[in-house]
Amino acid sequence: MGRIVILTGAGISAESGLGTFRDEGGLWAQHRIEDVATPEGYARNPALVHRFYNARRIQAAAAAPNAAHLALARLEAEHSDVVTIVTQNVDDLHRRAGSHHVLQMHGRLAGALCDICGHRWEAPPEMDEETPCPACHRAAARPDVVWFGEVPHYMDEIAALLAEARLFAAIGTSGQVYPAAAFVEEARAAGAETVEMSLEPTAVSHLFDDCLVGPATETVPRWVEGMLG
Ligand SMILES: [Zn+2]
Repeated sequence: MGRIVILTGAGISAESGLGTFRDEGGLWAQHRIEDVATPEGYARNPALVHRFYNARRIQAAAAAPNAAHLALARLEAEHSDVVTIVTQNVDDLHRRAGSHHVLQMHGRLAGALCDICGHRWEAPPEMDEETPCPACHRAAARPDVVWFGEVPHYMDEIAALLAEARLFAAIGTSGQVYPAAAFVEEARAAGAETVEMSLEPTAVSHLFDDCLVGPATETVPRWVEGMLG
C-alpha cells in the first residue's frame, strides 16, 4: 500500500462558514492578530483572548462539514492507499465528516491546555481566566491552539509521512504559512506526485505537478471521484 498525505487549510473550512484572519468580515476583523493569536497577546489580556476563542468554538461547533470534507473521508475509507490528513485548521470538521487519520498541526478549538503544567483536556464551550486546570487546579486554562511564534504539533511525524508519500495534495492553503508551505518541497524530494486545489493560483502553485482551481466543494469531490475511478 502506498501513502497519500493531504494538507488542508482555511479554504476548506471557509465553505462551512468559518472565516480566517485573512478575511475582511467576521470574527477576525474585529481584532488584531497580535492581540488574539500570540502568547504575548494572551499574557496582556487573557479575558479578551478567551472571549475570542469562546466565540470561535461556538461558531465551529455550529458549522457542518461540507462536500470537500466528506469526499476526503470517503477517500480514506475506500482507497487502498493509507490516507492521512494534516490540517492547519483548528475546527473538527474532518473528524465530524468521518476522517480518522487527522493531524491537527495547529491544535484544536475544542481543546484546553494548562499554561502552567501542560495538561490537556476537552474545553468547555466557554472558558475564562478563572477556569481551573483539572490536573494542577490552578487557573491557567488557555485554548489548545498553536499561536504565531509557537511551534506546530507533529512536525517529526509529518516529516516522516512526507518522506513516504507517493502522493501529496494541498487543499485550500495559501502556501504562505511556514512550515506547511515547505511540505510540497519535502514531498517532491521524496518522489511524490503533487497536486494543489485552491480557489485561485497561489504563490507556490508552480511547485505542484497539477493545480485544480475552484471552490474546494467542487474540486475535491471531483478529484476524489477520479482517484477512486
Ligand atoms: Zn495545570
